[in-house]
Amino acid sequence: MDKENKLFYKKQFIWEKLSSDEKKDVFKLGDDYRAFIDASKTERLTIKEIVKRAEENGFECLENKTEVNPGDKIYYINKEKNAVLAVIGKQSIEKGMNIVGSHVDSPRIDLKQNPLYEKHGISLLKTHYYGGIRKYQWVTIPLALYGTVVKSDGEIFDIAIGDDENDPVFYITDLLPHLAKDQNDKKLSEAIEGEGLNVIIGSLPAINESDDDDKKDDKKFKLNVLKILNEKYGMIEEDFQTAELEIVPAGKARDVGIDRGMIMAYGHDDRVCAYTSLQAIIELETPDKTSVALFSDKEEIGSVGNTGMHSAFFNNMVAELITLQNNGNYSELLLKRALANSSMLSSDVAAGVDPTYPQVTELQNAPIMGQGVAMVKYTGSRGKSGANDANAEYIGKLRKLFNENGVIWQPAELGKVDQGGGGTIAYIMANFNMDVVDLGVPVLSMHAPFEIISKTDLYMTFKAYKAFYNNF
Ligand code: MN
Ligand code: MN
Repeated sequence: MDKENKLFYKKQFIWEKLSSDEKKDVFKLGDDYRAFIDASKTERLTIKEIVKRAEENGFECLENKTEVNPGDKIYYINKEKNAVLAVIGKQSIEKGMNIVGSHVDSPRIDLKQNPLYEKHGISLLKTHYYGGIRKYQWVTIPLALYGTVVKSDGEIFDIAIGDDENDPVFYITDLLPHLAKDQNDKKLSEAIEGEGLNVIIGSLPAINESDDDDKKDDKKFKLNVLKILNEKYGMIEEDFQTAELEIVPAGKARDVGIDRGMIMAYGHDDRVCAYTSLQAIIELETPDKTSVALFSDKEEIGSVGNTGMHSAFFNNMVAELITLQNNGNYSELLLKRALANSSMLSSDVAAGVDPTYPQVTELQNAPIMGQGVAMVKYTGSRGKSGANDANAEYIGKLRKLFNENGVIWQPAELGKVDQGGGGTIAYIMANFNMDVVDLGVPVLSMHAPFEIISKTDLYMTFKAYKAFYNNF
């Protein structure tokens, strides 16, 4: 066997290969990532944090630009829920861009539009979960409430309750084991029902001064919640109908393990790839090709809606860039060329091998935690259905790039054939005829309220995106 073969078959963990300086960098990046993800509990807050960091590093809003030149750093926000950062390259945009695209939405529990009710002395909120959650994981844990409310006069305000240590939290109940006989006999997927994810918001009755005895007991628990919301935000019940309110796990990201090698947090999928691509692009000087970090929304429900990857927001932004680059001249052909000549890393998390459940993965093709950034040639399910399935030529070029730049990567597949499957935004961007492959951080307990990643994989993913922007 030649040297390269030996390296490939004798897999090494990143930690064994790093210098002591690099090991310090791994922990530094881990600390900064925890700060990022603690500030990014929702898609809107993630975009705020991304733009804050971008502005601190010299990025300017696209709307303020009258022309673009090599080295310009630009951001574009779409409806507060997704964003694009770009660093203009030396070559013209029609020659193609190097794009790293992640998503900033994570599985969660949304409030319904008319959520508030009371029953048996408790006020609750009705919900509809968002994305693929295992419902039983979301009961009996501390929950936080975030969101944006539009009042009847058009005023907009934000709500954030549950993550400040002085805040109360919210809660979804489950049965006690003593009385769970019927529930225990149900399938895991049916034991907790969607309509059973009701969130406790209050338990004290309003003191009703009415003299009319008939009215005294009417909805006084619900009334008390409304009174508090009105005192705090000037909110009335109808305002729920023009709000987007999200229930997410309360609590900060934490290091995991006595060696602090991993991080537990809500929303690694996919804010860990958003973070690593953000950090890679904000350090970038004038690249050869225009470099783009794309942060999409709604991936967890099929990339739909005006902030999802199926929306025209990205193409529109590139059209604006082309126009600014060409003194106001625009042709659709230039846009088509720009997209078709582009290369993209669809930066989404991969399912790492769980030592407790290795049977769901085919171990020869599954990413091991701590063995590097995972390259997923194809996702999809049941015979690659719905997959992007990247070209060998493209992943061959990436292999060369990564191996030349000290990026440790591993080929990966999303679980055993016929065990399940999933998708990312890769196939959507491939429709423009650009080269796309999935490349991201392996995760354990994906879509659980708290997921786990390895700090060394975080570091290597950051290194991979940096190499892609600088040298591809
Ligand atoms: Mn994802
Ligand atoms: Mn996901």
